[in-house]
Amino acid sequence: MWAARFHGVDRGVSLDEVPVPSPGAGEALLRVHVVALCGSDLHILNGHTPVSHQPITLGHEICAEVVELPEQGNRRDASDTGVRVGDRVFVNPIVGCGACEHCELAEPNLCPGKRILGIHRDGGLAEFCVAPVTHLTPIPPGIAAAEIAMIESAGTANHALRSLGLDGHDHPTIALIGAGGLGSQVLALAVARGMRVFALDTQDQALARARRAGARGTLNSAQHPDPLAALRDLAGGPVDGVVDCVGFPSTVELGLSALKPGRTLSIVGIGSEALQTTAPAHFIRRSLRIAAIYAYTPLDIGEVSQAVAARSVALSDPGNPCVPLDQIHAALALFADKRRAPARVLITMPGAR
Ligand SMILES: [Zn+2]
Ligand SMILES: [Zn+2]
Repeated sequence: MWAARFHGVDRGVSLDEVPVPSPGAGEALLRVHVVALCGSDLHILNGHTPVSHQPITLGHEICAEVVELPEQGNRRDASDTGVRVGDRVFVNPIVGCGACEHCELAEPNLCPGKRILGIHRDGGLAEFCVAPVTHLTPIPPGIAAAEIAMIESAGTANHALRSLGLDGHDHPTIALIGAGGLGSQVLALAVARGMRVFALDTQDQALARARRAGARGTLNSAQHPDPLAALRDLAGGPVDGVVDCVGFPSTVELGLSALKPGRTLSIVGIGSEALQTTAPAHFIRRSLRIAAIYAYTPLDIGEVSQAVAARSVALSDPGNPCVPLDQIHAALALFADKRRAPARVLITMPGAR
């Protein structure tokens, strides 16, 4: 089979012919349909996100079809997990060790021994991949493969929105800083929850997309000498929550300044500079909270999968291009080019339906 494998920062990615993987105990063999490229794939290419070994098949945002299940083989009867051969599934790529306190508390994203598909073990940018059957969520027929692949990044977005602690608030106002790939998912889920979202970005293209996806207002923060004042004007005052998908000192400061007292800034973007603390009087007397969000828990995946299955949210922008696996280099270049970048780029596998 063909697989897009990362050979190190110097050698980059190549399309290699490799054997179809054999499932281990408790694992299913999957025929991959669609994989979404992700900002963290670019971080792997430039060396900012280390992988455990090379070469490694990239790809962790996966929609696939179950080809073979553990023990039951090809029998079509239901396994304990409710997954059957032929099901189209979302693959949760975070495989915890299963033994530590974080795994026991259903927070495998924090497991020190976790192995993530496409980072610590072979991922989905290939015709076939393997994953634990407990990490598969069947999605009903009729849902686009692109929507299913997006469940992964939307899990992080869901986690960030949950952490704002705004359950019970009536149509709260949210500032979204950074309306790129992950920001698009935050926006889609926030709109589906009835939140009023005001999006900031430095790219007009991203802001136009945010308006199409339901943002109440948008702001190009590079074009305003005082983005905080402009945001307050736009939102009609301080906001109930901020999700920062950028994570720079300037965006964190902007987000904290934009909040009502007692509210939360969720940071999901991993910036390249050290964050600075703000003046204590500004921060403590207003009882602000900062939530650093890494990935998602099974709860987030369950909530997003249900929303996708019920079609109550649309995660993939219609403008996201689909590129076949044999054009992986062109796809990575398109995704990396900030000026041309669509929110997401989807890779389709040969023979996938
Ligand atoms: Zn990702
Ligand atoms: Zn663990």
